[in-house]
Amino acid sequence: MDLQDPVFTLDDVLWERLLELTGGEAALCYQCGTCTATCPWGLVRGETVSVREFIRRVQLGLEVTDALWLCTTCAQCEAYCPRGVSIAGIFRALREIAWERREAPQGLPSLLWSLYWNDNTWSQPPSQRAQWAKDLAIPVFDPQQHEILLYVGGAASYDNRVQKVAASFVRVLRAAGVTFGILGADEPPSGADVLDVGHRPFFEELAAKTVKVFQERGVKRLIALSPHSYDVFKNHYPFVSEGFTPQHYTQYLAELLEIGRLKPNKPLEAMVAFQDPCYLARHNAETDAPRRVLAALPGVTLVEMAHSGTDTLCCGGGGGRMYLETEAGERFSDVRVEEAQEVLTSATGVAIMATACPYCMVCLEDSVKARKMTLTVKDIAEIVALTI
Ligand code: SF4
Ligand code: SF4
Repeated sequence: MDLQDPVFTLDDVLWERLLELTGGEAALCYQCGTCTATCPWGLVRGETVSVREFIRRVQLGLEVTDALWLCTTCAQCEAYCPRGVSIAGIFRALREIAWERREAPQGLPSLLWSLYWNDNTWSQPPSQRAQWAKDLAIPVFDPQQHEILLYVGGAASYDNRVQKVAASFVRVLRAAGVTFGILGADEPPSGADVLDVGHRPFFEELAAKTVKVFQERGVKRLIALSPHSYDVFKNHYPFVSEGFTPQHYTQYLAELLEIGRLKPNKPLEAMVAFQDPCYLARHNAETDAPRRVLAALPGVTLVEMAHSGTDTLCCGGGGGRMYLETEAGERFSDVRVEEAQEVLTSATGVAIMATACPYCMVCLEDSVKARKMTLTVKDIAEIVALTI
């Protein structure tokens, strides 16, 4: 339906449902269009995604278009919205309605089925969840013996590249003398992807099961490798227990460095450009901890890209986009690796594009390969491991 059409039909039922799911958030919007101008789709497509028009449709209770599924929930638009509209939340709500109407795009139902059968989005057997750690002798978490639970997450459990990040973090924890355990094959999913693709009822079901596991295992301090897991545990989960404290691993490393438990002492002549993950920088206003960690590493010089901190540029992997096809030439990560290359040209030692998120890692490395670049992409945990 075209908003320019002289006649269109308002759907009261849809409008009521949208109001119920969004808490009337869209009413705050005064149609300035800043969201459309800041959305990164404008950088990779001739035509931007008209976020403003989406919000207008929500205000009026009109059908939305398939572009609904393009949103990576990166929250760039929210950061600039003068009315503080929770735009990513509205997109999630619209997706929830699309699920109710069986209108989700191909590819997403299989993601949910995989979670249902396998407890992971990677269509891998749950029994293999701890295979990445088979030679690392990591104990099963015991609250009597361990300071923290290392929440590994699906990507670091099953993706070959991200498994190396998990192994590096284990090395770093051991160097700092931290006592820790994992849940191994019993590690439950966080459900972050399910929340982002808008299937709220399934997310609630998964979250309830995961909370039960955390309660039974006595989990208090949880360190997550992925900002998506950290975000969902911190901001979207029901009550777990008194004292339950989820942290992203960079926040924990910053603490270990500050209290002197972690002492990096091998200089690494490197220039590093840091890709702030959206789910750290914008959804959780955390831009400081990763930089404090990098600043504490001997021989590391941090340089900032054109988009940095809360103005970071999304890698394109959030909001379920990891599981949907993105046309070549339309990947945000292509723009991002070029930005990194630009600020790293003057590097005299090793030039590294750093991140602290498994989705960023996968998207950025794909872009580096597709563009035949020589740029090295590393996770902060890997960089720290090189200095101990
Ligand atoms: S930036 Fe905010 S107020 Fe402006 S059009 Fe977008 S949602 Fe509405
Ligand atoms: S959350 Fe990100 S991708 Fe989604 S509409 Fe806003 S700026 Fe665009």
